[in-house]
Amino acid sequence: MRIRTFNEYQEAYKHSVEDPESFWAEIAQEFQWRKPWTKTLQWNFDEPNVKWFTGGKLNITENCLDRHLLTQGDQPAIIWEPNDPNEASITLTYRMLHDQVCRFANVLKRNGVVKGDRVCIYMPMVPELAIAVLACARIGAVHSVVFGGFSAQSIADRINDAQCKVVVTADGAYRGNKEIPLKSTVDDALIGCPSVRKVIVLTRTRTPVSMLKGRDIWWEQELKQVTADCPAEEMDAEDMLFILYTSGSTGKPKGVVHTCGGYMVYAAYTFQNVFQYEPGDIHFCTADIGWITGHSYIVYGPLACGATSIIFEGTPTYPDYGRFWDITDKHKVNILYTAPTAIRSLMGFGLDKVENHDLSSLRVLGSVGEPINEEAWHWYDDHIGKNRCPIVDTWWQTETGGILISPLASITKTKPTYATLPLPGIQPILVDENGKEIEGNGVSGNLCMKFPWPGILRTTYGDHERCRQTYFATYPGLYFTGDGCLRDEDGYYRITGRVDDVLNVSGHRIGTAEVENAINMHTGVVESAVVGYPHDIKGQGIYAYVITDQQPSDHDADLTKRDILATVTRVIGPIAKPDKIQFVTGLPKTRSGKIMRRILRKIAEGDTSNLGDTTTLLDPAVVDEIKEGAL
Ligand code: ATP
Ligand code: MG
Repeated sequence: MRIRTFNEYQEAYKHSVEDPESFWAEIAQEFQWRKPWTKTLQWNFDEPNVKWFTGGKLNITENCLDRHLLTQGDQPAIIWEPNDPNEASITLTYRMLHDQVCRFANVLKRNGVVKGDRVCIYMPMVPELAIAVLACARIGAVHSVVFGGFSAQSIADRINDAQCKVVVTADGAYRGNKEIPLKSTVDDALIGCPSVRKVIVLTRTRTPVSMLKGRDIWWEQELKQVTADCPAEEMDAEDMLFILYTSGSTGKPKGVVHTCGGYMVYAAYTFQNVFQYEPGDIHFCTADIGWITGHSYIVYGPLACGATSIIFEGTPTYPDYGRFWDITDKHKVNILYTAPTAIRSLMGFGLDKVENHDLSSLRVLGSVGEPINEEAWHWYDDHIGKNRCPIVDTWWQTETGGILISPLASITKTKPTYATLPLPGIQPILVDENGKEIEGNGVSGNLCMKFPWPGILRTTYGDHERCRQTYFATYPGLYFTGDGCLRDEDGYYRITGRVDDVLNVSGHRIGTAEVENAINMHTGVVESAVVGYPHDIKGQGIYAYVITDQQPSDHDADLTKRDILATVTRVIGPIAKPDKIQFVTGLPKTRSGKIMRRILRKIAEGDTSNLGDTTTLLDPAVVDEIKEGAL
């Protein structure tokens, strides 16, 4: 499955388009199957219904763990770097990880978890998070990892949507100089979650926690009750592996569903080829396992390839802004995969904390999560890669399971801000508003895919119609990504951003509607409208226009703003807090009642000279008022 030259890339690409089934069958054969599949691909994008490797039986943990035991059981699988650099890091070999996964899988079983049950995982970035994920996969339980920064309400929504039976959490988490109470947040969430029978709590911070008799149990106590013998459950290629919730631009998050066979093949294939992974490489992906990037490129992709993957508990700026470079130096990292928002925030601090570290182990740099701006691209290239490490700007989504458009490190010629070319098996197409294909080069349009790849989402949990509506109905016969895209004269792809209204704050995707809903829950708020504006560090900042039932005085306005921030934090989490709140008496609405965001966006950007046509507004005077009060 390994591509080594640009020629081989072109050949693989050609093969994958001319005969996708034989292309992917050859790759899938390199994995360990209990029983071979009978049909490589069945699909239609109308229902949609996509099935890869039908009839094939496997367990992904046998591929990620067991099959490496004979050849490289004593190689490190996971290196854990704690939040506090003075705490010892931990290395788990493949043998140790296998042992711990089997033990925790037995803990889950002992607590009534069976194949098909959903398990919510809300944990800090500790090895036990990966262990819990793999333990679910071992016994065929479906994991739903919820990012450790989410609020009780967000956790409750996700638990209820998936009807999770068990929650795995920790007493608390360390992030920078903060201690975050996880278990007490879970307790708040569980007030409204009748499906949950057990909560398994790992000790991390020793924060006092309440433990409810009959429901809450300690991870460490449970481990004493089990052995390390846990044969893997035999799974169908199309059995569910996990649910992962996207940020949800319409308020209610979507539970993206991935299945065992196709996801495994795709995560491993893309990991190997995009990063040009070599045996023995140390791979450091800085994402949280709570996001798809962590699922595919901290856990499943690297482990399926027998790589060594770093799990980092902390933040890029603690104890100082040289932490990534410190980790790179300390663990001799070869592949570094991070996000533009992290690069931009570190750029701002100058070079002293870069230059006092040895970064010569680095071979490949990766970027993911949002378009990388030119300045950040060059800073990454010049100061981190010292102009000798290729940058792979990887474009993909929760729904795609793995990277779709990206250079292959050292093979594809890179170009700043371009994700460059589709990987083998990926058939992008640009369409106009009416779904008509835009052919040729030097064009831009809405980015769609016309053929399935093994890692494509299968459904949104519990609501297949929503999956159809969101991804397959806009342009019949195509998978619609929601992103705008430019294809330049060389056929290189550049993602230009989202076509809809979703904010990208520090690499976190947050729906404007989601933030508005949260603000509107605050007492006294009548209505609100949220837009993004350019923010040096976060990429996008959140600007909220808020109508309250009583126009607050200056003093009250300050207090009310702080209260609104507290409400948003409680409902969604701190990442969604508006950077600016402007109180207004009305919003620019069309006669049909739709808010004209285009105008609000311009005002938020400080560009009020040309607001375009405002005559279709119900009350054009409201625009002047908003302009005058702009922050
Ligand atoms: P929701 O669909 O609910 O809004 P989501 O889109 O926020 O959730 P992800 O699946 O993590 O969350 O993000 C995928 C999106 O991130 C892509 O659609 C794209 O807009 C952006 N993105 C990711 N990687 C890149 C990249 N390399 N270049 C440009 N944009 C990127
Ligand atoms: Mg999306």
